[in-house]
Amino acid sequence: MDDLDSQGGPVHPIAGPIVSRFLAGSCGGVIARLDADGIVLEAGDRLASRMPDPGPVPLAELMTGPSARRWRSLIDRLRPGGRPRPIRLRIRGGGPTLRLIGLAHREPDGRLWLLAMPEVDADALGSARELARELSLLKRHLARSDRMGRLVEKARREARTDPLTGLANRRQGIRWLKQAAREGRLQPTRSCCCIVVDLDEFKAINDTFGHPEGDRVLRAAARTLGEQIRPVDRIFRFGGEEFVVLLPETGLDGGRAVADRLRVALSGRPLGPLDGSLTASFGVACLRAGESAASLFKRADLALVRAKNLGRDRVEVEP
Ligand code: GH3
Ligand code: MG
Ligand code: MG
Repeated sequence: MDDLDSQGGPVHPIAGPIVSRFLAGSCGGVIARLDADGIVLEAGDRLASRMPDPGPVPLAELMTGPSARRWRSLIDRLRPGGRPRPIRLRIRGGGPTLRLIGLAHREPDGRLWLLAMPEVDADALGSARELARELSLLKRHLARSDRMGRLVEKARREARTDPLTGLANRRQGIRWLKQAAREGRLQPTRSCCCIVVDLDEFKAINDTFGHPEGDRVLRAAARTLGEQIRPVDRIFRFGGEEFVVLLPETGLDGGRAVADRLRVALSGRPLGPLDGSLTASFGVACLRAGESAASLFKRADLALVRAKNLGRDRVEVEP
């Protein structure tokens, strides 16, 4: 049974048997990886069960007062890449206080980790050398989990990005729309404008110049739109040749002015083979008190339909 250690606990694929017991909490010890300020990024089961919520918690918040002070002072003194330092900890919350003794270490990139065992078992676990050996296994595990972390972050980024234009995608955009509606409900005085942009006669561009050229025009149009807005504004590709711009703290007049600026910028630029002949239509609506994201978007889209029906290359505003 390769995946069980001699005490019957599951063995971590990378770390050794002792660290595995820490990870599973089965030896009563705790293990945690923390950011440079001591906020828990990852914790073994034993510590995780003491944390109030998933989500970032400063480790010091789980400790008794004196223990928290010792911990803070220790992490101030830990040099990046320096030697692990011993620490006594008292973890409270979610059960009887855990009295622990262990080691803390600061990685060269500033992040911290902690490995500690119940004080009463410290002798039983053996010499510091044995613990140090486990710590080196732990570091290998952490290096691996860093790589995993980077992969997860990359996957997260890809999940919210439109691959063709590099703008945020529809999924992310809908989150923003809902967030704007939520903020509007909390603070009804805050306005937010939504502009829906649809490139005109785009099918003809594909038909005339080919799909790859159409893609290039889409990328150039996305870049042009992105260049015209403020850092606080948001833009995403809703799909196909349709984009959405969200303008916080902007009323209808402001929204109309921005949409018109976008319209002029798009039609005034050589984009792909079109040399200034690409146009787009724009629908603008501003968030009403208590309005849902879906309703805001629908009204902006209705204005866009009107802009199309009135001849394209124009801005229509939904009152
Ligand atoms: P309208 O002015 O009414 O909006 O006309 P339109 O031709 O722009 O609208 P329609 O909805 O008929 O066509 C949209 C076209 O956009 C058809 C579709 O092939 C093209 N399109 C959608 N996504 C992409 C893409 O990722 N790349 C390229 N090259 N074309 C795309
Ligand atoms: Mg179109
Ligand atoms: Mg369209």
